[in-house]
Amino acid sequence: MLKITNPATGKIVAEVLEDNAASIKRKYMLARDAQPAWAAKSLGHRTKVIRAFRAQVAARKDELARILVSETGKPLQQAMSELNGLLPRIEFFLDHARKTLRPRKVHDQDGMTEVISHEPLGVIANISAWNYPYFVGANVFVPALLTGNAVLYKPSEFATRTGLEIAEMLYEAGVPQTVFTTVIGTGTVGAALLKQPVDGVFFTGSAATGKAIAKAVAGRMIKLQLELGGKDPVYVCDDVDPVAAAAGLADGAMYNAGQSCCAVERIYVHENIYQPFVDAFIKEVKGFKIGDPLAEGTYIGPLTRAPQIKVLEAQIADATKKGARLAIGGKRIRTRGLGKGNYFQPTVLLDVDHSMTVMRDESFGPIIGIQSVQDDAEAMVLMNDTSYGLTAGVFTKDRKRAERMLGQARAGTVYWNCCDRVSPRLPWSGVGDSGIGLTLSTYGIETFTRPKAWHLRKA
Ligand code: NAD
Repeated sequence: MLKITNPATGKIVAEVLEDNAASIKRKYMLARDAQPAWAAKSLGHRTKVIRAFRAQVAARKDELARILVSETGKPLQQAMSELNGLLPRIEFFLDHARKTLRPRKVHDQDGMTEVISHEPLGVIANISAWNYPYFVGANVFVPALLTGNAVLYKPSEFATRTGLEIAEMLYEAGVPQTVFTTVIGTGTVGAALLKQPVDGVFFTGSAATGKAIAKAVAGRMIKLQLELGGKDPVYVCDDVDPVAAAAGLADGAMYNAGQSCCAVERIYVHENIYQPFVDAFIKEVKGFKIGDPLAEGTYIGPLTRAPQIKVLEAQIADATKKGARLAIGGKRIRTRGLGKGNYFQPTVLLDVDHSMTVMRDESFGPIIGIQSVQDDAEAMVLMNDTSYGLTAGVFTKDRKRAERMLGQARAGTVYWNCCDRVSPRLPWSGVGDSGIGLTLSTYGIETFTRPKAWHLRKA
């Protein structure tokens, strides 16, 4: 049995039956048998079913948000924001599937016609993360189902109840149980799922697991997509209002207790405005309400996974040993009745540099290093000094200055005067250890298909 613990209280909230090699094999065989009939249904039918799923999410979002809070510790308002944000994301896929999947005539001359069609991949494995389970899940299973694939969906062990709710809503909406199937358990179960001869693996999670998955499927001629972590930098130029920039970036760093793949993880500030920026940033962080994720106004809840506390403590110890200054925070919270949960103080480290792990390794917590830089050139070098490449941002009044820098940024997504933002209209992808492949946008529909080339000569 998989025990599900509430990160805010340490209490077990549910026990769920885990899959094993035999049950996974059975689920795979059923999915394999069911997929052709699902692909043979009209796109209109599949669209109707996903629209019905969307309606269920909309109708049940209060209850779904509380379930999400119970297993991830995400503050209720942020859980509601995720569910509210899911609705337009699904709409995007519904609105764009037909045009994206329409067979395309690319040549028609002298009796010879050439057409490209989009064929489903077949049966795909979707191994998912817990930090935004509705977003990262739906980025895969919605377009995968719309394009006629069967999906073996392994929710994170930290978002299992949410995964089971997603499945129930899809079944209620009309997706056959053999076409979308949950595979429940920890990483061991994920590894067992990869042993099945699936046609594609779509993974969201850490770079370390992504690399293990790439090794596990090496040599198999199947599609592999890896949406991994980041160490996302932002540079604050000297022409901006430091108070406004600090407010936006504190939110970008600390929202969901910093547990976002595109959370701001490193900040570089032009030396001319370094001090006012730091003062405003600390003031902003001091204003964040920490506590029970179900309480009104809570902004920072517990960390979802207890072991992450040790990662943050190690990064802080490493940084301070090498000369960083702890401006605020730095410790696990044991007071105010929060001791049984995985609460960590929002933490700001100053005088940091790239010899410190806090500026190199993903923190995935409410902790940030702020470094002063002399000019744009120094900022640019530091921003690109990373094995990751998910997002990068520049805050400046000058669009040209931003575009010059963002053009050089080695990242899948770049931001001007904004951060920690995802749009269904734009592709979501990473460079380096942030992964391969993409989700979202019309490319994120096509990615669940393979193009088939038709050469048609009139007799
Ligand atoms: P994780 O790598 O620990 O786990 C992700 C999933 O992989 C879980 O379902 C887990 O059970 C499974 N898993 C673990 N070991 C496995 C193995 N050997 N074989 C197969 N499956 C295995 O990541 P997490 O803690 O769930 O998520 C946090 C990470 O995800 C962060 O690094 C974050 O940046 C990243 N993330 C990236 C994106 C993106 O879009 N790029 C989005 C959200 C989260």
